[in-house]
Amino acid sequence: MSAQIIDGKAFAAKLRGRISEEVAKLKNDHGMTPGLAVVLVGEDPASKVYVSSKGKMTKEVGMNSYEYKMPAETTQEELLAKVEELNNDENVHGILVQLPVPKHIDDHAIINAISPEKDVDGFHVINSGRLATGATGAQAPLVPCTPLGSLMLLKDHLGDLSGLNAVVVGRSNIVGKPMSQLLLGESCTVTTAHSRTKDLPEVVGRADIVVAAVGRPEMVKGEWIKEGATVIDVGINRIERDGKNILVGDVDTASAMERAGAITPVPGGVGPMTIACLLVNTLTAATRKLGLPQPDLLGK
Ligand code: NDP
Repeated sequence: MSAQIIDGKAFAAKLRGRISEEVAKLKNDHGMTPGLAVVLVGEDPASKVYVSSKGKMTKEVGMNSYEYKMPAETTQEELLAKVEELNNDENVHGILVQLPVPKHIDDHAIINAISPEKDVDGFHVINSGRLATGATGAQAPLVPCTPLGSLMLLKDHLGDLSGLNAVVVGRSNIVGKPMSQLLLGESCTVTTAHSRTKDLPEVVGRADIVVAAVGRPEMVKGEWIKEGATVIDVGINRIERDGKNILVGDVDTASAMERAGAITPVPGGVGPMTIACLLVNTLTAATRKLGLPQPDLLGK
């Protein structure tokens, strides 16, 4: 058996197409252009690449992109003042402070200073709380982008997830924990595994859905995976192989292909969905500000 490939790149392109249509409607019908502000502190090369591709994609769907580059010696007070300025800016509907911030800045303090209504990363405690309590309607959370994109791929592939056994490997606030909350919200039976989990292969082997968000290259082996399971590989690890610098996930794709029913590739799986979902959240924040219903972006 060879697993079906879940094409996140194609799904994300389609999603961005739908977002463009909704942005055009907002401009036409309400004279509003959604705006996303991204703040980068310091010179981290990977962060620079992420920020520039976020800006490019934001403009491509017709939104306004505002980029603020601040030097590595920026103080916490200066960064808080920038966040406050953006909270009060009517043209900005989403704010993202690129992580990691330099060590002398408390990232929790920064994240929680962002207005929850503009917190398009979904990391604010108000949004985490809303996700954990299953809040809906006007109280619905802005959901962290990587788990949101992963859930979209799962629902597109499997339809109704209720009753399925899901194992999320990783418990970070950015990926693992919100992913588990989302799957619980879909009525899966959820296990969250981490570095202290005993007999991880046995735990993974029970899962109909495996989400790997560990940050360890190719750690999850094919022989751990239940026959036919759906595997979402969140990992992005840069390694040297055969003299080449390549990207691999947290799942050993070659062996997993022999057991899984379907799997996301790395690259081209979850990665493209993360930026697309940042745009989804910015659109959501903008439409909520106008009191409009959430656009249906996934309608076939
Ligand atoms: P973190 O380092 O914050 O969390 C890693 C988690 O994995 C922790 O909960 C840790 O457990 C757990 N873990 C570590 N070692 C083991 C082990 N041997 N067995 C079981 N669990 C283990 O990482 P992130 O959640 O931020 O990211 C995870 C991966 O996803 C990374 O590869 C990252 O690059 C990628 N990523 C990809 C994105 C995308 O757009 N596709 C976006 C964000 C991240 P413990 O809590 O006990 O320490």
